[in-house]
Amino acid sequence: VNSVDHQLIELHELAAKLYHHILVNTQAGATALSYLKQRGLSAEIINDFGIGFAPPQRLLLPFFHERQTDADLLQQTGLFSQNQQGELYDRFVDRIMFPIKNGSGQVIAFSGRLLSTENTDMPKYLNSPETKLFNKRRVLFNFDIARKAARREQKLILFEGFMDVIAAYRAGVTNGIASMGTSLTEEQVSMIERVTSNLDVCYDGDQAGQNATKRALEMIQGQTTNVQLEVVSMPAGIDPDEYLQQYGAEKFKQWLMDARQTPVAFSLRHLKQGLNLENEADQINYLNAALQIIAGVPNEIEQDVYVNQLVSEFKLDKANLTSQLRELTRQRD
Ligand code: ATP
Ligand code: MN
Ligand code: MN
Ligand code: MN
Repeated sequence: VNSVDHQLIELHELAAKLYHHILVNTQAGATALSYLKQRGLSAEIINDFGIGFAPPQRLLLPFFHERQTDADLLQQTGLFSQNQQGELYDRFVDRIMFPIKNGSGQVIAFSGRLLSTENTDMPKYLNSPETKLFNKRRVLFNFDIARKAARREQKLILFEGFMDVIAAYRAGVTNGIASMGTSLTEEQVSMIERVTSNLDVCYDGDQAGQNATKRALEMIQGQTTNVQLEVVSMPAGIDPDEYLQQYGAEKFKQWLMDARQTPVAFSLRHLKQGLNLENEADQINYLNAALQIIAGVPNEIEQDVYVNQLVSEFKLDKANLTSQLRELTRQRD
């Protein structure tokens, strides 16, 4: 780390402390604090993640001016925007602030959440822009903590949002990570691969989350064969954080264990969505697509498991399915 990076990190650490102070010790943070409490975050969790609040009034600019921080350096932090006159102003205003850390646990960026998303077209979460410190393709939320926990757990769990990672942490599951509100990148897969050979993907139980799961699986499988994948599907329509809120920590941990599926089992289920399997055309499409997926499975025993499922589910002749599968497998090789 060179000296500019070092200074930029120092400014982020200071900003995080200030945002946190505003949240936990001042009247300006009271509404945000009660919002977080109502979402189930204790003082301890708020402290562990260094969560803060950027008040509606300007905060960082006067603070850093007072400290006579170099203006060029301030600009490089990404914590400020510039108006037409070239004047800096706080980028984050009236948002709950989540520090984003690098693999060593140093603050390199922020994501800020609005307290309410009603009557606004502003984004629910606003991230720091790309800076010298922060390349969102190379950052995973909670990676500094999770990679240590992964040594014990022998796996990482990939969630969709910060609040899901924090929910898992509240339940004692500290090996959770999340990408920065975008689809998973090659760089992030490489980071994961260096830490563990087991990854559970646990995205939101809505359609967007299920589609994102499909894309993440394909992306990871296209990049490496060194990561054993499993999918944890949430109940329809809810995300892990909402699950914890509704059912508590024990059920949450049980769900993470019990709802795991192989990527193929997930893909077969995903394929069914939007199809009416009472309808013959849909059924035939499903079976053809399902066999395509099963043909991609390298292990014949695993193939046989899924073929048996289709046979019993649709009352089919196994010999027929098997010969069709052989044909598809030949085409694959
Ligand atoms: P919350 O529980 O606070 O509503 P969430 O994690 O459930 O948050 P989702 O809407 O499921 O939020 O989105 C998942 C992730 O995508 C978020 O954690 C955030 O990183 C990112 N994200 C969501 N909305 C936006 C947005 N408008 N701009 C940028 N990133 C976003
Ligand atoms: Mn979502
Ligand atoms: Mn969500
Ligand atoms: Mn949520």
